Amino acid sequence: MESIIFIAPPAAGKGTQSKMLCDAYHIPHISTGDLLREASLVEDARGIYIKNQISSGALVSDEIILELLKERLKQSDCNNGYILDGFPRNIEQAQAYEGILEELNKKLGIVIYLEVDKKLASKRIEGRMSCPNCGSVYNTIIEEAKPKQDGICDRCGQTLIKRGDDNSETFGIRYDTYLEKTNPLIKYYEDKKVLYRVSSANNKNETFQEISSILKRSNEL
Ligand code: AMP
Repeated sequence: MESIIFIAPPAAGKGTQSKMLCDAYHIPHISTGDLLREASLVEDARGIYIKNQISSGALVSDEIILELLKERLKQSDCNNGYILDGFPRNIEQAQAYEGILEELNKKLGIVIYLEVDKKLASKRIEGRMSCPNCGSVYNTIIEEAKPKQDGICDRCGQTLIKRGDDNSETFGIRYDTYLEKTNPLIKYYEDKKVLYRVSSANNKNETFQEISSILKRSNEL
């Protein structure tokens, strides 16, 4: 199975689509944001640094992210493809990732660019609730994205939380960081002919269907 990389601004629906794909295709969902949130719980200098970067909306150093990701990709559940959500975030990470792939004898796969405009992304951030246990994402102001029971994760029953960086001020910084650092990856992957554009303005099932058909076609090639 081809691995999938998601490139998208914050709150475009990467996490939601990743979970849906991971359920449908039984491949792991690797969110670098989740890896970092977990690493930030360790109370040492690195943990504190990661926590500060996340809460200010800035990127964590490439060195840390590459180390965490490489360890994760070595695990055997990544042998038949995986979904990368939140990585790479800049050209340097994309280049370093190619070295990791070579070392681990893995292929690049396909890149999905989830398009969403800033206004809609900002609205999604306002109501977004996340599960600290399984990473599922909900939204209290979008009818189809509400949890079945208020404040409780449908998937694992954990109490949902509002992420500390899901506020309008940090969103603005994260969005600007995305434009400056991550957006250039669209051309980078377009040039490699692995990029597919998908609008995330529709409902999540339509977006999922579109991604599934891209995946089906690319796995048949
Ligand atoms: P996310 O869960 O993808 O929205 O990421 C939350 C935060 O984690 C980001 O705002 C960054 O501070 C950090 N982060 C996640 N992925 C990366 C990455 N690939 N490189 C650097 N920082 C990252």
